[in-house]
Amino acid sequence: MNGAPDGPDVLVVGGGPVGLACAIEARLAGLSVVVVEPREAPVDKACGEGLMPGALRAVQRLGVDPPGHDLAGISYRAGALVADHRFAGGPGRGVRRTTLHAALAGRAAELGAATVAGRVEALTLRADGAGVTLRADGERSGAHQVHAHQIYAHQIHAHQIHARHVLACDGLHSTVRRLLDLEVPPRARGRRFGLRRHFRVAPWTDLVEVHWGARVEAYVTPVAPDVVGVALLGPRGTAFDDELAALPGLAAHLRGAEPLGPVRGAGPLRQDTRRRALGPVRLVGDASGYVDALTGEGLRVGLAQARAVVGHLEDPAGYERAWSRATRDYRVLTSALVRAATSPARGAIVPLARAVPPLYGAVVERLAR
Ligand SMILES: Cc1cc2nc3c(=O)[nH]c(=O)nc-3n(C[C@H](O)[C@H](O)[C@H](O)COP(=O)(O)OP(=O)(O)OC[C@H]3O[C@@H](n4cnc5c(N)ncnc54)[C@H](O)[C@@H]3O)c2cc1C
Repeated sequence: MNGAPDGPDVLVVGGGPVGLACAIEARLAGLSVVVVEPREAPVDKACGEGLMPGALRAVQRLGVDPPGHDLAGISYRAGALVADHRFAGGPGRGVRRTTLHAALAGRAAELGAATVAGRVEALTLRADGAGVTLRADGERSGAHQVHAHQIYAHQIHAHQIHARHVLACDGLHSTVRRLLDLEVPPRARGRRFGLRRHFRVAPWTDLVEVHWGARVEAYVTPVAPDVVGVALLGPRGTAFDDELAALPGLAAHLRGAEPLGPVRGAGPLRQDTRRRALGPVRLVGDASGYVDALTGEGLRVGLAQARAVVGHLEDPAGYERAWSRATRDYRVLTSALVRAATSPARGAIVPLARAVPPLYGAVVERLAR
Protein backbone atom coordinates (compact mmCIF):
# COMPACT_ATOMS: atom_id res chain seq x y z
CA MET A 1 0.00 0.00 0.00
CA ASN A 2 2.80 2.42 0.88
CA GLY A 3 0.64 5.47 1.03
CA ALA A 4 -1.26 4.51 -2.11
CA PRO A 5 -4.61 6.23 -2.36
CA ASP A 6 -6.25 2.82 -2.84
CA GLY A 7 -5.68 1.74 0.77
CA PRO A 8 -8.66 0.73 2.89
CA ASP A 9 -11.27 3.25 4.00
CA VAL A 10 -10.68 2.22 7.60
CA LEU A 11 -7.59 0.81 9.28
CA VAL A 12 -8.30 -0.60 12.73
CA VAL A 13 -5.26 -0.77 15.00
CA GLY A 14 -5.86 -3.60 17.49
CA GLY A 15 -8.14 -6.57 16.99
CA GLY A 16 -9.55 -6.81 20.54
CA PRO A 17 -13.33 -6.77 21.02
CA VAL A 18 -13.67 -3.05 20.34
CA GLY A 19 -11.45 -3.15 17.24
CA LEU A 20 -13.43 -6.08 15.87
CA ALA A 21 -16.70 -4.30 16.66
CA CYS A 22 -15.38 -1.28 14.72
CA ALA A 23 -14.48 -3.55 11.81
CA ILE A 24 -17.98 -5.07 11.82
CA GLU A 25 -19.65 -1.64 12.06
CA ALA A 26 -17.50 -0.33 9.20
CA ARG A 27 -18.23 -3.32 6.96
CA LEU A 28 -21.95 -2.99 7.73
CA ALA A 29 -21.61 0.64 6.61
CA GLY A 30 -20.11 -0.55 3.31
CA LEU A 31 -16.52 0.53 4.03
CA SER A 32 -13.37 -1.45 3.29
CA VAL A 33 -11.50 -2.47 6.45
CA VAL A 34 -8.12 -3.83 7.51
CA VAL A 35 -7.50 -4.83 11.13
CA VAL A 36 -3.89 -4.96 12.41
CA GLU A 37 -3.39 -7.24 15.42
CA PRO A 38 -0.12 -8.78 16.63
CA ARG A 39 -1.53 -11.63 18.69
CA GLU A 40 -2.71 -15.04 17.60
CA ALA A 41 -6.49 -15.52 17.68
CA PRO A 42 -8.43 -16.10 19.83
CA VAL A 43 -6.90 -13.34 21.94
CA ASP A 44 -7.18 -13.64 25.74
CA LYS A 45 -6.85 -10.83 28.29
CA ALA A 46 -7.31 -10.13 32.00
CA CYS A 47 -11.02 -9.35 32.13
CA GLY A 48 -13.95 -10.07 34.43
CA GLU A 49 -15.78 -11.36 31.32
CA GLY A 50 -19.18 -10.03 32.34
CA LEU A 51 -21.22 -8.71 29.41
CA MET A 52 -23.67 -6.44 31.17
CA PRO A 53 -27.18 -6.45 29.58
CA GLY A 54 -26.36 -3.42 27.40
CA ALA A 55 -23.13 -5.03 26.16
CA LEU A 56 -24.93 -8.27 25.35
CA ARG A 57 -27.51 -6.37 23.30
CA ALA A 58 -24.71 -4.48 21.54
CA VAL A 59 -22.88 -7.65 20.40
CA GLN A 60 -26.16 -9.24 19.35
CA ARG A 61 -26.89 -6.16 17.25
CA LEU A 62 -23.59 -6.86 15.44
CA GLY A 63 -24.83 -10.36 14.59
CA VAL A 64 -22.85 -12.13 17.32
CA ASP A 65 -24.37 -14.31 20.05
CA PRO A 66 -21.51 -15.96 21.96
CA PRO A 67 -22.26 -18.82 24.35
CA GLY A 68 -21.75 -18.29 28.06
CA HIS A 69 -23.60 -18.20 31.37
CA ASP A 70 -26.59 -15.97 32.14
CA LEU A 71 -25.90 -13.13 34.58
CA ALA A 72 -29.04 -12.10 36.45
CA GLY A 73 -27.60 -9.20 38.47
CA ILE A 74 -24.91 -8.00 40.86
CA SER A 75 -24.27 -9.07 44.45
CA TYR A 76 -22.08 -6.94 46.75
CA ARG A 77 -20.65 -8.91 49.70
CA ALA A 78 -18.60 -8.01 52.76
CA GLY A 79 -18.36 -10.76 55.36
CA ALA A 80 -21.94 -11.76 56.22
CA LEU A 81 -23.40 -8.63 54.66
CA VAL A 82 -25.04 -9.11 51.22
CA ALA A 83 -26.72 -6.63 48.84
CA ASP A 84 -28.26 -8.17 45.70
CA HIS A 85 -29.74 -6.41 42.71
CA ARG A 86 -31.33 -8.31 39.80
CA PHE A 87 -31.27 -6.59 36.40
CA ALA A 88 -34.71 -5.22 35.54
CA GLY A 89 -34.41 -5.54 31.77
CA GLY A 90 -33.16 -9.09 31.24
CA PRO A 91 -29.85 -10.81 31.87
CA GLY A 92 -26.30 -10.13 30.85
CA ARG A 93 -23.92 -12.96 30.05
CA GLY A 94 -20.57 -14.22 31.34
CA VAL A 95 -18.49 -15.06 28.25
CA ARG A 96 -14.88 -16.28 28.11
CA ARG A 97 -12.73 -13.69 26.35
CA THR A 98 -11.48 -16.27 23.88
CA THR A 99 -15.09 -17.22 23.05
CA LEU A 100 -16.06 -13.58 22.57
CA HIS A 101 -12.97 -12.91 20.46
CA ALA A 102 -13.57 -15.93 18.22
CA ALA A 103 -17.21 -14.93 17.69
CA LEU A 104 -16.41 -11.30 16.83
CA ALA A 105 -13.44 -12.26 14.62
CA GLY A 106 -15.59 -14.79 12.77
CA ARG A 107 -18.27 -12.19 12.14
CA ALA A 108 -15.74 -9.58 10.97
CA ALA A 109 -14.19 -12.10 8.56
CA GLU A 110 -17.61 -13.20 7.30
CA LEU A 111 -18.38 -9.58 6.45
CA GLY A 112 -15.09 -9.21 4.55
CA ALA A 113 -12.78 -7.42 6.98
CA ALA A 114 -9.14 -8.35 6.39
CA THR A 115 -6.74 -9.00 9.26
CA VAL A 116 -3.01 -8.36 9.11
CA ALA A 117 -0.61 -9.82 11.68
CA GLY A 118 1.62 -7.04 12.96
CA ARG A 119 2.15 -4.34 15.53
CA VAL A 120 1.78 -0.66 14.66
CA GLU A 121 4.86 1.25 15.68
CA ALA A 122 4.72 4.53 13.76
CA LEU A 123 2.12 6.75 12.19
CA THR A 124 2.25 9.69 9.78
CA LEU A 125 -0.70 12.04 9.42
CA ARG A 126 -1.33 13.18 5.86
CA ALA A 127 -3.84 15.39 4.11
CA ASP A 128 -5.74 12.39 2.74
CA GLY A 129 -5.51 10.05 5.74
CA ALA A 130 -2.66 8.42 7.65
CA GLY A 131 0.24 6.11 6.91
CA VAL A 132 0.80 3.40 9.48
CA THR A 133 4.05 1.48 9.86
CA LEU A 134 3.90 -2.13 11.05
CA ARG A 135 6.47 -4.35 12.70
CA ALA A 136 6.37 -8.11 12.46
CA ASP A 137 5.50 -9.56 15.81
CA GLY A 138 7.62 -12.24 17.39
CA GLU A 139 4.55 -14.28 18.29
CA ARG A 140 3.91 -15.22 14.68
CA SER A 141 6.24 -16.07 11.88
CA GLY A 142 5.57 -14.55 8.50
CA ALA A 143 3.81 -11.54 9.94
CA HIS A 144 1.89 -9.31 7.55
CA GLN A 145 0.02 -12.34 6.28
CA VAL A 146 -3.50 -11.42 5.40
CA HIS A 147 -6.31 -13.59 6.64
CA ALA A 148 -10.04 -13.56 6.17
CA HIS A 149 -11.29 -12.50 2.79
CA GLN A 150 -7.99 -10.97 1.73
CA ILE A 151 -9.53 -7.92 0.13
CA TYR A 152 -6.15 -6.25 0.27
CA ALA A 153 -3.98 -9.33 -0.14
CA HIS A 154 -2.54 -8.06 -3.37
CA GLN A 155 -1.62 -4.73 -1.84
CA ILE A 156 -0.29 -5.54 1.64
CA HIS A 157 3.27 -6.48 0.88
CA ALA A 158 5.06 -3.59 2.48
CA HIS A 159 5.45 -2.46 6.08
CA GLN A 160 3.20 0.52 5.53
CA ILE A 161 -0.53 0.80 5.11
CA HIS A 162 -2.23 4.00 4.14
CA ALA A 163 -5.87 4.53 5.09
CA ARG A 164 -8.39 7.35 5.03
CA HIS A 165 -9.38 6.70 8.64
CA VAL A 166 -7.39 5.11 11.46
CA LEU A 167 -9.31 3.75 14.46
CA ALA A 168 -6.91 3.24 17.36
CA CYS A 169 -8.36 0.34 19.36
CA ASP A 170 -5.03 -0.77 20.78
CA GLY A 171 -6.06 -0.97 24.39
CA LEU A 172 -5.11 0.42 27.78
CA HIS A 173 -1.50 1.23 26.80
CA SER A 174 -2.29 2.46 23.30
CA THR A 175 0.74 3.01 21.06
CA VAL A 176 -1.21 5.30 18.74
CA ARG A 177 -2.33 7.48 21.68
CA ARG A 178 1.30 7.83 22.78
CA LEU A 179 2.59 8.52 19.25
CA LEU A 180 0.08 11.36 18.87
CA ASP A 181 0.72 12.72 22.36
CA LEU A 182 -2.95 12.39 23.29
CA GLU A 183 -2.42 10.89 26.74
CA VAL A 184 -2.59 12.65 30.07
CA PRO A 185 0.39 11.62 32.25
CA PRO A 186 -0.76 9.01 34.78
CA ARG A 187 -1.17 9.89 38.44
CA ALA A 188 1.53 8.46 40.64
CA ARG A 189 -0.74 7.63 43.59
CA GLY A 190 -3.74 5.37 44.00
CA ARG A 191 -3.10 3.31 40.88
CA ARG A 192 -5.15 0.16 40.60
CA PHE A 193 -4.42 -3.08 38.78
CA GLY A 194 -6.44 -6.14 37.77
CA LEU A 195 -5.69 -9.87 37.95
CA ARG A 196 -7.82 -12.69 36.64
CA ARG A 197 -7.89 -16.49 36.83
CA HIS A 198 -10.41 -19.21 35.98
CA PHE A 199 -11.39 -22.15 38.16
CA ARG A 200 -13.10 -25.39 37.22
CA VAL A 201 -16.14 -25.40 39.46
CA ALA A 202 -19.89 -25.30 38.81
CA PRO A 203 -21.18 -21.75 39.32
CA TRP A 204 -23.02 -21.46 42.64
CA THR A 205 -24.91 -18.32 41.60
CA ASP A 206 -26.20 -16.52 38.51
CA LEU A 207 -25.17 -13.15 39.97
CA VAL A 208 -21.81 -11.46 39.51
CA GLU A 209 -20.51 -11.54 43.08
CA VAL A 210 -18.27 -8.68 44.16
CA HIS A 211 -16.49 -9.63 47.40
CA TRP A 212 -15.15 -6.58 49.18
CA GLY A 213 -11.97 -7.30 51.10
CA ALA A 214 -9.82 -4.94 53.13
CA ARG A 215 -7.67 -3.93 50.11
CA VAL A 216 -9.13 -5.63 47.06
CA GLU A 217 -12.40 -6.40 45.39
CA ALA A 218 -12.79 -9.91 43.98
CA TYR A 219 -15.48 -10.36 41.45
CA VAL A 220 -16.72 -13.68 40.33
CA THR A 221 -18.33 -14.28 36.95
CA PRO A 222 -19.82 -17.62 35.89
CA VAL A 223 -18.75 -18.18 32.26
CA ALA A 224 -19.65 -21.85 31.60
CA PRO A 225 -21.50 -24.73 33.33
CA ASP A 226 -18.23 -25.75 35.00
CA VAL A 227 -16.07 -22.60 34.96
CA VAL A 228 -16.03 -19.35 36.92
CA GLY A 229 -13.63 -16.45 36.44
CA VAL A 230 -12.31 -14.50 39.41
CA ALA A 231 -10.98 -10.97 38.83
CA LEU A 232 -9.14 -9.15 41.62
CA LEU A 233 -8.82 -5.38 41.61
CA GLY A 234 -6.41 -3.62 43.93
CA PRO A 235 -3.07 -1.87 44.35
CA ARG A 236 0.18 -2.82 42.64
CA GLY A 237 1.68 -5.99 44.03
CA THR A 238 -1.64 -7.64 44.89
CA ALA A 239 -0.93 -11.35 45.49
CA PHE A 240 -3.79 -13.33 43.95
CA ASP A 241 -3.75 -16.40 46.23
CA ASP A 242 -3.16 -14.46 49.46
CA GLU A 243 -6.00 -12.03 48.79
CA LEU A 244 -8.40 -14.85 47.87
CA ALA A 245 -7.54 -16.69 51.07
CA ALA A 246 -8.46 -13.53 52.99
CA LEU A 247 -12.02 -13.69 51.61
CA PRO A 248 -13.41 -16.75 53.40
CA GLY A 249 -16.88 -16.54 51.79
CA LEU A 250 -15.27 -16.88 48.35
CA ALA A 251 -12.38 -19.15 49.30
CA ALA A 252 -14.88 -21.75 50.57
CA HIS A 253 -16.48 -22.01 47.10
CA LEU A 254 -13.10 -22.37 45.39
CA ARG A 255 -11.57 -24.87 47.83
CA GLY A 256 -10.35 -27.87 45.80
CA ALA A 257 -11.31 -26.26 42.45
CA GLU A 258 -8.70 -26.73 39.73
CA PRO A 259 -7.18 -23.40 38.60
CA LEU A 260 -7.33 -23.11 34.81
CA GLY A 261 -4.55 -21.28 33.00
CA PRO A 262 -2.28 -18.58 34.35
CA VAL A 263 -3.13 -15.50 36.42
CA ARG A 264 -3.34 -12.68 33.86
CA GLY A 265 -2.78 -9.07 34.84
CA ALA A 266 -3.56 -5.58 33.53
CA GLY A 267 -2.91 -2.04 34.64
CA PRO A 268 -2.56 0.59 35.80
CA LEU A 269 -6.23 0.78 34.98
CA ARG A 270 -6.87 4.53 34.99
CA GLN A 271 -5.97 6.13 31.65
CA ASP A 272 -6.96 9.65 30.62
CA THR A 273 -6.86 11.26 27.18
CA ARG A 274 -6.71 14.87 26.02
CA ARG A 275 -9.02 14.25 23.06
CA ARG A 276 -10.34 11.33 21.04
CA ALA A 277 -10.00 12.71 17.51
CA LEU A 278 -6.96 14.08 15.71
CA GLY A 279 -6.95 14.46 11.93
CA PRO A 280 -7.91 11.07 10.46
CA VAL A 281 -7.29 9.21 13.76
CA ARG A 282 -9.88 8.32 16.40
CA LEU A 283 -9.25 6.71 19.76
CA VAL A 284 -11.80 4.01 20.60
CA GLY A 285 -12.32 1.59 23.51
CA ASP A 286 -9.74 1.39 26.30
CA ALA A 287 -7.33 3.39 24.11
CA SER A 288 -9.69 6.38 24.42
CA GLY A 289 -9.49 6.37 28.23
CA TYR A 290 -10.37 3.98 31.04
CA VAL A 291 -11.62 4.49 34.57
CA ASP A 292 -11.65 1.14 36.36
CA ALA A 293 -12.95 -2.42 36.05
CA LEU A 294 -14.96 -2.21 39.28
CA THR A 295 -18.31 -1.82 37.53
CA GLY A 296 -17.56 -4.18 34.59
CA GLU A 297 -18.48 -1.57 32.01
CA GLY A 298 -15.50 -1.56 29.63
CA LEU A 299 -17.09 -3.65 26.90
CA ARG A 300 -20.47 -1.92 26.97
CA VAL A 301 -18.85 1.49 26.72
CA GLY A 302 -16.32 0.36 24.08
CA LEU A 303 -19.03 -1.19 21.90
CA ALA A 304 -21.05 2.04 22.09
CA GLN A 305 -17.93 3.97 21.01
CA ALA A 306 -17.40 1.59 18.08
CA ARG A 307 -20.90 2.35 16.84
CA ALA A 308 -20.45 6.09 17.39
CA VAL A 309 -17.08 6.35 15.66
CA VAL A 310 -18.22 4.68 12.45
CA GLY A 311 -21.31 6.89 12.46
CA HIS A 312 -19.10 10.00 12.70
CA LEU A 313 -16.07 9.16 10.57
CA GLU A 314 -16.14 12.51 8.77
CA ASP A 315 -17.19 14.49 11.85
CA PRO A 316 -14.54 14.58 14.61
CA ALA A 317 -16.55 16.94 16.84
CA GLY A 318 -19.57 14.67 16.44
CA TYR A 319 -17.51 11.71 17.61
CA GLU A 320 -16.21 13.68 20.61
CA ARG A 321 -19.80 14.49 21.60
CA ALA A 322 -20.99 10.93 21.06
CA TRP A 323 -17.98 9.62 23.02
CA SER A 324 -18.85 11.93 25.92
CA ARG A 325 -22.46 10.77 25.91
CA ALA A 326 -21.52 7.09 25.69
CA THR A 327 -19.03 7.31 28.57
CA ARG A 328 -20.68 9.87 30.89
CA ASP A 329 -22.38 7.53 33.37
CA TYR A 330 -19.33 5.29 33.46
CA ARG A 331 -16.93 8.19 34.01
CA VAL A 332 -19.06 9.80 36.72
CA LEU A 333 -20.39 6.79 38.64
CA THR A 334 -17.38 4.48 38.34
CA SER A 335 -14.98 7.31 39.28
CA ALA A 336 -17.11 8.12 42.33
CA LEU A 337 -17.22 4.47 43.40
CA VAL A 338 -13.46 4.06 42.97
CA ARG A 339 -12.86 7.26 44.99
CA ALA A 340 -14.99 5.83 47.79
CA ALA A 341 -13.32 2.42 47.49
CA THR A 342 -9.88 3.97 47.94
CA SER A 343 -10.89 6.25 50.83
CA PRO A 344 -11.73 5.70 54.50
CA ALA A 345 -15.37 5.37 53.35
CA ARG A 346 -14.56 2.00 51.75
CA GLY A 347 -16.05 0.03 54.63
CA ALA A 348 -19.40 1.84 54.25
CA ILE A 349 -20.03 0.84 50.61
CA VAL A 350 -21.66 -2.57 51.11
CA PRO A 351 -23.62 -1.48 54.23
CA LEU A 352 -24.96 1.49 52.24
CA ALA A 353 -25.92 -0.71 49.26
CA ARG A 354 -27.67 -3.03 51.71
CA ALA A 355 -29.40 -0.21 53.60
CA VAL A 356 -30.64 1.73 50.55
CA PRO A 357 -31.61 -0.81 47.86
CA PRO A 358 -33.23 1.80 45.55
CA LEU A 359 -29.95 3.74 45.41
CA TYR A 360 -27.87 0.62 44.81
CA GLY A 361 -30.35 -0.66 42.21
CA ALA A 362 -30.47 2.68 40.40
CA VAL A 363 -26.67 2.80 40.09
CA VAL A 364 -26.45 -0.81 38.84
CA GLU A 365 -29.26 -0.24 36.31
CA ARG A 366 -27.71 2.98 35.08
CA LEU A 367 -24.38 1.27 34.42
CA ALA A 368 -25.84 -1.95 33.02
CA ARG A 369 -28.08 -0.33 30.39
C1 LIG B 1 -9.30 -7.10 35.57
C2 LIG B 1 -10.28 -6.55 34.57
C3 LIG B 1 -11.60 -6.96 34.61
C4 LIG B 1 -12.50 -6.47 33.67
N1 LIG B 1 -13.79 -6.90 33.70
C5 LIG B 1 -14.68 -6.49 32.78
C6 LIG B 1 -16.01 -7.00 32.76
O1 LIG B 1 -16.40 -7.86 33.56
N2 LIG B 1 -16.87 -6.52 31.82
C7 LIG B 1 -16.48 -5.58 30.91
O2 LIG B 1 -17.31 -5.16 30.08
N3 LIG B 1 -15.22 -5.09 30.89
C8 LIG B 1 -14.31 -5.53 31.80
N4 LIG B 1 -13.03 -5.08 31.76
C9 LIG B 1 -12.66 -4.10 30.73
C10 LIG B 1 -12.46 -4.79 29.35
O3 LIG B 1 -11.57 -5.87 29.50
C11 LIG B 1 -11.91 -3.76 28.37
O4 LIG B 1 -12.68 -2.60 28.45
C12 LIG B 1 -11.94 -4.30 26.94
O5 LIG B 1 -11.06 -5.38 26.79
C13 LIG B 1 -11.53 -3.19 25.98
O6 LIG B 1 -11.41 -3.71 24.70
P1 LIG B 1 -10.43 -3.03 23.64
O7 LIG B 1 -10.66 -3.78 22.37
O8 LIG B 1 -10.58 -1.55 23.70
O9 LIG B 1 -8.96 -3.31 24.21
P2 LIG B 1 -8.18 -4.74 24.36
O10 LIG B 1 -9.13 -5.81 24.69
O11 LIG B 1 -7.07 -4.45 25.28
O12 LIG B 1 -7.62 -4.98 22.90
C14 LIG B 1 -6.57 -4.21 22.36
C15 LIG B 1 -5.90 -5.00 21.25
O13 LIG B 1 -4.92 -4.16 20.63
C16 LIG B 1 -3.78 -4.94 20.33
N5 LIG B 1 -2.64 -4.02 20.25
C17 LIG B 1 -1.97 -3.45 21.28
N6 LIG B 1 -0.98 -2.66 20.80
C18 LIG B 1 -1.04 -2.74 19.44
C19 LIG B 1 -0.27 -2.16 18.38
N7 LIG B 1 0.75 -1.32 18.62
N8 LIG B 1 -0.59 -2.48 17.09
C20 LIG B 1 -1.64 -3.31 16.82
N9 LIG B 1 -2.39 -3.89 17.79
C21 LIG B 1 -2.10 -3.61 19.08
C22 LIG B 1 -3.69 -5.94 21.48
O14 LIG B 1 -2.94 -7.09 21.13
C23 LIG B 1 -5.17 -6.23 21.76
O15 LIG B 1 -5.63 -7.38 21.08
C24 LIG B 1 -12.09 -5.53 32.68
C25 LIG B 1 -10.76 -5.12 32.66
C26 LIG B 1 -9.86 -5.62 33.57
C27 LIG B 1 -8.44 -5.17 33.51
